This record gives sequence, structure tokens and C-alpha cells, in this order.
Amino acid sequence: MKIAIIGAGVAGLTAAYHLSALEHQVVLYEASGQTGGLASGFRDANWEWALERFYHHWFTSDNAIIDLIRQLGQEDKLFFRRPVTSIWYKGRIYPFDSYVRAMLFPHLSVIDKLRAAPVALYLRLLRDWPRLERYTAHEWLTRWMGRRGYQILWEPLLMGKFGEYYQEVNMAWFWARIHKRSPRLGYFVGGFQALLDILTEQVRKQGAEIRLHTPVERIETEALSIAPGEVASRLLVHAQGQVEAYDRVIVTLSPNLLAQMVPELPEDYLAGLRQLKSLGAVVLILALKQRLTEGHYWINLPKGEGFPFLALVEHTNFIEREHYGGDHLVYCGDYLKPDHEYFRLSHEEMLARFLPTLQRFNPAFTPDWVRASWLFREKYAQPVPGVNHSCNIPDLATPIRGLFWASMSQVYPWDRGTNYAVEMGREVARRALAV
Ligand SMILES: Cc1cc2nc3c(=O)[nH]c(=O)nc-3n(C[C@H](O)[C@H](O)[C@H](O)COP(=O)(O)OP(=O)(O)OC[C@H]3O[C@@H](n4cnc5c(N)ncnc54)[C@H](O)[C@@H]3O)c2cc1C
Repeated sequence: MKIAIIGAGVAGLTAAYHLSALEHQVVLYEASGQTGGLASGFRDANWEWALERFYHHWFTSDNAIIDLIRQLGQEDKLFFRRPVTSIWYKGRIYPFDSYVRAMLFPHLSVIDKLRAAPVALYLRLLRDWPRLERYTAHEWLTRWMGRRGYQILWEPLLMGKFGEYYQEVNMAWFWARIHKRSPRLGYFVGGFQALLDILTEQVRKQGAEIRLHTPVERIETEALSIAPGEVASRLLVHAQGQVEAYDRVIVTLSPNLLAQMVPELPEDYLAGLRQLKSLGAVVLILALKQRLTEGHYWINLPKGEGFPFLALVEHTNFIEREHYGGDHLVYCGDYLKPDHEYFRLSHEEMLARFLPTLQRFNPAFTPDWVRASWLFREKYAQPVPGVNHSCNIPDLATPIRGLFWASMSQVYPWDRGTNYAVEMGREVARRALAV
């Protein structure tokens, strides 16, 4: 079969990997100049390893991507370690990545702790998650942990991840986070981009064609009369003034882009796509001449404490700075609606907003610590799973025969991630062949 895949992120690359292994003729269309999508990286002149545009790591439970790494013969490059993840509370940073540390946290009363511990244990052990999706995490956690425990421990995380939508997120999503995540975090020698390059190379070796700088504009169906009284259809992909026909098309983009690209989809399906909510991501990456925090990899920042961003990730407290020419690398990140001013402000304006805050993490910080900085923004970065979300998720097969859609918005109840992009890429390849 001749199969087009739109988007060469992890989902598109994985689908291409499986389909080209079976000798189908695969063409991958990618709008940008590189493969890897949200997980892709860049390398400054003096760096040995690439750095992700958006902070990335794996969990020990990310079996689909760990399997893929094994299939590619690269498991010796995968490693796990246990960096410190922390929360900010009233002007101080507290490591917060184990039950013991949570129990030692001085700002929770004994009663708060006695309520929080069984809730965490219950969520860790529970398997029947669907019954949680009819509650919002906000109401369920407040009820079972108590207002204070929830406000200190989990509300900042939900706010940081979902902004003004945070009270809408369902409890099954929160369960998945507690149930599946590990304190040990994984990374790849050379950065995620090194793995993506190996996968891209393998996909090419298997005969798939990757067209970079080729944004797809439109997909439409064409009816073909194959015999008297018999009509079949094929799919036409429009990109850069060229039109090409395919037996199958797999789109890996946002619901909005799918709706714009395929106006022929039935109106009720388009309405379903339009009501799927998501947020964009903005990160400012700083290469510093000195270490910013005392060994913290990840710090969740509560919105109420006046930070201009909601996660501070000091990557070189996870991965040695020797791989980056001695730079200390810090991400300042936030998830925001695509109409937020951070999507419009210039790089200089973003630096002016973010840099003064860094003194709160280290009073000695001065702007001349910054050797270089990079700003990355993506408008589709974090789907928002509302109450009873499982009823709203479209199937991988769209109503148009031969047209499939595999996106972050269909990852559920797990939080989207490269592991699930691999799982989905594999599954959509299987479904595309099964029609
Ligand atoms: C801030 C942040 C932190 C994250 N942290 C982690 C983490 O720690 N661990 C983890 O595993 N995952 C993490 N993720 C999630 C992970 O990056 C994604 O789940 C995964 O990369 C999604 O892959 P995808 O292929 O579904 O989509 P994408 O990566 O979005 O790929 C879609 C591709 O389509 C291309 N495209 C867009 N429009 C067109 C068009 N018209 N024509 C052709 N191509 C087009 C895009 O350029 C892109 O390459 C993070 C994401 C963000 C934003």
C-alpha cells in the first residue's frame, strides 16, 4: 500500500517504522526542518550532546519506548537515575520525591499527613481507574485529602500543568500520574534527539521517504470508478502545490489542524474535534556560567507566589554539564493558552520577564551569568482531559475510510509522552493495515 503519514514526531516516526518494516510504501510529511516534533532537540556549537527544546525524561514504566529502544539495538544508551524533584513553598525549596520526604515536610500537620498518605497509597494500588473519571481531581482530592493538604501538595501541580483549566481535569488523569510514574528517571546518551536520529535513519533504511519542510495543507477524498457499478476511493494529499494519491493517510497533528486540513469530515465529528481542549507550552532555556540551585532537577512553583513561569528545571542537576561544554542548563517553563501574550512577546521581552525571578532561587544570580538563551513555543502541547473524557475521545479511524488520526489528545488516562506516542504509532499502523 502507499501510505502518507503527516507529522514526523515520535508517533509519525513509529508508525513509519512499523509500516515500512512490512514493505509498504511510506511517505512522511514534516512541516519543520527536522524529525522528532515536541521531543526534538538542538545542539549549541560547544555541546557534545543535544538538548530537548522542551524538558524530557522517561519513567521506568515507559515500556513501549523502552521496547523500541531495544528493537533498535540501543539499550546500552538508555540509563536511569534518581534526580531530586522539589516543590516551592513560601520562599523555600523542599525536595519532595518520596513518601518519607512528604512525611518530613514541615508545613503539613500530622492530620494532613495522616489523610494524604492513605490517599497516595490507594491511588498507587487502585486498578479500576474508570470510576474516577466522573470526578474532577480538584473536588476528589479536596474531599479525601482535605483542603490544606491538597492546596499545598497537588493544587500547584495541577495549576502549573493546566492553568485556568486546572479545576476541570478529571481524577483518572491524576490517578494515572501517581500510579505509573517512578522516582527514577530515564535519559538517552546524546539526548532524545540522538534516539530520534537513529529511529529516523532506520525508517529511511527501510525505504520510507521523509519530506522535511513540507507542510500538508489539505487532504481530500477522490472517488474512483474501478469497474462498472463499483466505486472505490483514495486520499489526495496537498502539499506545496503538489497533489499525491494514497491508499491510507495517518495524521498525527492537533485536533484543530486535522479539522482545518480535512474540511470534508462530517460536521458532528468536526464539532467533537473542536471541543477537545489543550494548552500550548513556552520554555526559555538558559545556559548559565554557574549552578542556579543546590542540586534540584525539577521545582514545581505555585502560581500564588508570583512567579512568571511554573516549572524550573535545572537539566544539569540530572545530566552532567560536561556534555554541554560546561554550561549549566536551566529551563523556565509554563503551559498556557495559545492566545497568551508569551506566544507574542519577543525573546528579549521574555528574558526581561523571567530573569529577575532567578534571584529567588539563588540570591547571587546576576544576568551576566547567562551565556546564551533560547526560546521555544508550541501551541499544541498538553491536552486537557475533562470529566468523563473517555466518552469524548475519537477513535484512531476517522469517518473517512482510509484516514486515521493519532494524536496526543487520544492518549488517556496517561499523561501524554513519548512512550504513548510510540504506543499510538504502533497501534495506528496496525489499524491502518486492518481496514
Ligand atoms: C513541555 C513539554 C514537556 C514534555 N516532557 C516530556 C517528558 O518528560 N517525557 C516524555 O516522554 N514526553 C514529554 N513530553 C511529551 C512528548 O514530547 C509528546 O507526547 C510527543 O513528543 C508527541 O509526539 P507526537 O508525534 O504525537 O506529536 P508531535 O511531537 O507534536 O509531532 C507532530 C509533528 O507534526 C509536524 N507538523 C505540524 N503541522 C504539520 C503539517 N501541516 N504538515 C506536516 N507536518 C506537520 C510538527 O512539526 C511535528 O514534528 C513533553 C512535551 C512538552 C511540550
